[in-house]
Amino acid sequence: MGCNDTMTCDKNMDCMHCDNATCTLRQYDYDKMGKDVDLMERVRLKKANRDNLYSLEPPFPRSNFLMEVSNVCNHACIFCAHQKMQRKVGKMNKDKAFDILQQAYDLGTREVGFYATGEPFLVPELPEYIAKAKEIGYTYVYLTSNGSVATPERIRAVIDAGLDSIKFSINAPQRKLYEFIHGRDDFDKVMEHLRYLNQYRKETGKNYKIYVTGILTRFTENLKDMYYEVFEGLADQIVFKYVYNQGGYMPEIEDYLRCRCDDEECRKCNLPFDAISVTKEGYLSIENADYENMLIVADLNKVSLYDGWYGDVMKDMRRRFMEDDLKGTLCDGCVHHTTAPARPTMPECSEVDEYIFDDSMVRERIEKSNLTVYVPMAADIIHPGHINIIKTAAQYGKVIVGLFTDEAIASYKRVPYMPYEQRKVVVENIKGVYKVVPQVTRDYDDNLRELKPDFMVHGTDWREGPLADVRAKAISTMREWGGQVIEPDYTKGVSSTMIQKKIVDRAKENS
Ligand code: SF4
Repeated sequence: MGCNDTMTCDKNMDCMHCDNATCTLRQYDYDKMGKDVDLMERVRLKKANRDNLYSLEPPFPRSNFLMEVSNVCNHACIFCAHQKMQRKVGKMNKDKAFDILQQAYDLGTREVGFYATGEPFLVPELPEYIAKAKEIGYTYVYLTSNGSVATPERIRAVIDAGLDSIKFSINAPQRKLYEFIHGRDDFDKVMEHLRYLNQYRKETGKNYKIYVTGILTRFTENLKDMYYEVFEGLADQIVFKYVYNQGGYMPEIEDYLRCRCDDEECRKCNLPFDAISVTKEGYLSIENADYENMLIVADLNKVSLYDGWYGDVMKDMRRRFMEDDLKGTLCDGCVHHTTAPARPTMPECSEVDEYIFDDSMVRERIEKSNLTVYVPMAADIIHPGHINIIKTAAQYGKVIVGLFTDEAIASYKRVPYMPYEQRKVVVENIKGVYKVVPQVTRDYDDNLRELKPDFMVHGTDWREGPLADVRAKAISTMREWGGQVIEPDYTKGVSSTMIQKKIVDRAKENS
């Protein structure tokens, strides 16, 4: 740990959203700390409020240099704009890359990561890039990978070339959700490769760092404990990040994937002031995952890195950030979570004239998934609370309603007004309901074990009182297969009991 605040701060994941003005991390001094800064602090630093950097001509970055050696990827993460990227795929010209690496080093940069929008292990020359960076003098060379093609042979090659740290991006800690999120059933393979990374470190005694990151979506936000269990002993740190709109390219994340606990209203971004991102075409971008080259500020095939960093386009973007004048750029959507169309900063460097947002891929992935959601209800008097619960449940997968039988309702409430068959007809015709099954007791165990749903949705009203034990049992049963219980806020101002009382009161008034 590099600062006392971090050592005493128990927020852990929330530190990414922390705006603590007195945090000593703001005083992060590269020359003192350099490569010893761990991943959690790096992530925190990137998100920290560093207004002191905000100027038209900030110093050249010492770290935060990403080079897109290729934009080819073999996965299709549900939140990733790569799945709809129109830019031609390909890899970087090696000579050009080496030249830019040298220029950045001469300007003071000491850290470089060889990835951006693609999977770096798909690039055969990857070990050469790492070796070159080390030869030039970079003190910290790192990678992020999905791990699926990081075979033992490839791992040995990058480690032996001098890699300082490697991060596997694993966006669910269990196989079924992993396949849904990554679009590939590679969980077991990735685990095997992660184990080998650890084994090779032991065998060689080399000092490289091994990290795991989980980009949390609403499908996985409750699974941090499972991450710690599954990756115990396999990673030096597990760092969680809330999914965000991918540099403005994926605003649909707001509606379909954003974590329920993520309340960030406005994105704080330091990238134009302290990060260098070079695309596979040799363009300087302000965004480190610029899928359509919408935020290019210089063509490094024509100008030097120094001239690009201090060039007019870059300075104009910095001014726009400082004045919050981002309209018409992708950054506007990213910072303010909006979906207005955006135009490229340098149209001659992009294949896209205007970026129009399209949510169909994410929507269809969720609709076609085989994730199931169990929702128990009596549904004797249907009201907006039922509709809200079903709407929430439908965001997670196919909704199976466990409809209490007449006997089950009578056992804890009263004989229902409508018999089971009539209630069933009503419920199975509610939008979002996939099927209805009988729930014969107040204990959900039998149905849960038979259906093994991925999620169970229940209002918060069962957290206290007589249902607290039922809740605890349901949570524990669901955990047996990695299922989660989602508890949306109870809809205020309406309930079956309230409606029933009103009916009785009115009947009395009218009699
Ligand atoms: S799109 Fe713009 S605001 Fe968003 S992360 Fe990238 S540079 Fe920052």
